[in-house]
Amino acid sequence: MLLLQTKIEEIPKIGTAYQKKLKKFGIKTIQDLLFHFPSRYDDFSEIISVAQARQRLSDTVCVQGRITEVENSRTFKKWMSITQAVVDDGTAEVKVIWFNQPYLAKTLKEDDFVCLAGKISLGKEGIYLNNPVYERINSLSENEDLTHTGRIVPVYPETRGITSRWLRYVIKPLLYRFAEQIPEFLPREILNKFKFLPINDAIWQLHFPESFEAADAAKARFSFEELFLIQLSVLKEKAKVMHKTAVSCPMDANLMKEFTSSLPFQLTDSQKKCSYQILKDLEKSVPMSRLLEGDVGSGKTVVATMAALSVVKNGHQVAFLAPTEILAKQHFKGVSKLLEKFDIKVGLLTSKDARIAKGDDIFEVSKKSLLGDLENRELNIVIGTHALLQKNVVFTDLVLVIVDEQHRFGVEQRAGLVKGIKSLPHLLSMTATPIPRTLALTVYGDLDLSLIDEMPKNRKKIKTIIVDPKDRKEAYNFIEKEVKEGKGVFVICPKIESKTGKLQGIAESNGNTATADFVPQNYDLRSILMNEVKAVKDEYERLSTKIFPDLRITMLHGKMKAAEKERIMVDFKNGELDILVSTSVVEVGVDVPRATVMMIEGAERFGLSQLHQFRGRVGRSDMQSYCFLFTTSPDQLNRKRLKALVECDNGFKLAEKDLEIRGPGQLYGTQQWGVPDMAMEGLTNIFLVEKTRNAAKEILEKDPTLEKYPLLKERLRNFERRIHFE
Ligand code: ADP
Ligand code: MG
Repeated sequence: MLLLQTKIEEIPKIGTAYQKKLKKFGIKTIQDLLFHFPSRYDDFSEIISVAQARQRLSDTVCVQGRITEVENSRTFKKWMSITQAVVDDGTAEVKVIWFNQPYLAKTLKEDDFVCLAGKISLGKEGIYLNNPVYERINSLSENEDLTHTGRIVPVYPETRGITSRWLRYVIKPLLYRFAEQIPEFLPREILNKFKFLPINDAIWQLHFPESFEAADAAKARFSFEELFLIQLSVLKEKAKVMHKTAVSCPMDANLMKEFTSSLPFQLTDSQKKCSYQILKDLEKSVPMSRLLEGDVGSGKTVVATMAALSVVKNGHQVAFLAPTEILAKQHFKGVSKLLEKFDIKVGLLTSKDARIAKGDDIFEVSKKSLLGDLENRELNIVIGTHALLQKNVVFTDLVLVIVDEQHRFGVEQRAGLVKGIKSLPHLLSMTATPIPRTLALTVYGDLDLSLIDEMPKNRKKIKTIIVDPKDRKEAYNFIEKEVKEGKGVFVICPKIESKTGKLQGIAESNGNTATADFVPQNYDLRSILMNEVKAVKDEYERLSTKIFPDLRITMLHGKMKAAEKERIMVDFKNGELDILVSTSVVEVGVDVPRATVMMIEGAERFGLSQLHQFRGRVGRSDMQSYCFLFTTSPDQLNRKRLKALVECDNGFKLAEKDLEIRGPGQLYGTQQWGVPDMAMEGLTNIFLVEKTRNAAKEILEKDPTLEKYPLLKERLRNFERRIHFE
């Protein structure tokens, strides 16, 4: 017996070749197939007479009729097969031509009735119906159950080797059989409140709608559904935290003043506002969950350091997690320098390194002694990579966790750091990735937001220039001049195109913000990586042999060992290299003040936010810096996007713009979450986001554990399994 959960292998219509193809798209069961939704529709709903159709040259029309003639032939060039037929409906007859579908003459016979949808064209021999979609029918009556013609016809997302026709042919009978069995998991009050179609109707109307209004109504339900699940999941997480306690750390205003006056600069107003929000949160006995968001170079580290100082002076410990070794070291140096005069012991722990800083002394220690110091509270702050999350690392009194560029740090992970202690540490997560409001309210909806929305005043605006292909030489001359003055240059290469199609993106192995524009559904990470490496190698060869044979150039890519990458970054930082040719792996946040030129090849391949991140690698000193954008794409949309980058230096606005121009496909955080298509569309709609958030809040207030909604609970569990939190 077939059930919703029956595997597609057991559906007789689906042969092994199709099974494989479907699996590539994650379709494993009948239910998956039913939830594989069309991306648009063709409107063939109006059936007109052949006589009328003949008057509508160049229009796409739908007609019915009896086949009076049908035959195959070949064009004179021999490589194209042509099937010709004549169809008559009593009002007139019309010729029909199909190209390269020789089997049609076997499927369609004289005296068959057909429904056809296609374009009325004019050829040498007069009016004909050009390559129409066809469907055999029983008679010319009006109550035929049509699938491919004579109705609003679903068109599914393009998938290699699986046609929409085939999907319609497979899905429709399954709907007849199973639509009624799909359980309704949305609570009744929500269905009523928003007047949603029940699931059984909605699924029919989404695949084979009676009208466009009905399709929209169905879509409204499904977009709501997915965002609603995200909201439930996030708000449940938030509720879990709110029910825990944390150690309160009263703020010492004098100490903070002392700290700020020890800085070689004045804090910006934004930095002051954010520090205050954080320090106030730390006073509470509810765990803080805060996201500190600010452009590259906006000065987040100082703000985080003030939080750490407050916690340490209250007698507790702080953990500071960085995404990579280089960044951990950079933070270690930076933070220990900032706290030099405050009698605080700062440690560094990576998979290879253990160091301790006290005052202006830094010394290497054994891991064991560092861990010992941590356990007996000798050590106040430890900065490190994921090595900090290992079991043997024991904080005796951890009260604050600072996380740089990792966004999601679940309650379980947080709790895991303080084994055996009842209270949860406060969490401060930092990111340079601008997060549009809709996203902040969904995917990051469990975090409170602090925004640094201004740059330190001493920064010069980076000059961003779209370089015309004919001015490439000039750009190279400029670069040479900068190098001669001792400045550093970054060259970023996009992945190149493979033979089998466009490789649009790559998921970075180190999980930092330098992620893909968007990752294709079934990408092969290894081949993409190889491809990217090749692009960089080619560019490196070209630059070092042909363009700048006298300069010191090297390359950096994701396949290199961490230690090698680090050595290169250090050399570049110290001025022992002039030009660094790199993939998008350039570590987020690595400070190279002497770099003044960021040159980006194939700029159209990156999202605006990502381009903005690259640009943030330069302009980290008081020297004038430049960002050169090279593009080979004449596409207007790309121009428009790159122009936005030239005109705007606010990462937050750029992210909103990206969302507006390109849609949410490449929003940071959405890939990490594996947000489903429907929900992605919903993410552009702030009203929908707010609606789902409120609905989720209401349900959880009534029933925090969803005991009364077992189907919803189960659906949420499956959903959470599908999207990955980490
Ligand atoms: P990010 O927000 O990218 O992490 P950092 O915290 O690394 O930025 O700060 C970048 C640089 O700016 C550091 O060298 C820091 O000392 C400096 N900086 C931070 N705040 C200010 C300020 N208010 N005025 C001037 N320089 C500042
Ligand atoms: Mg930083």
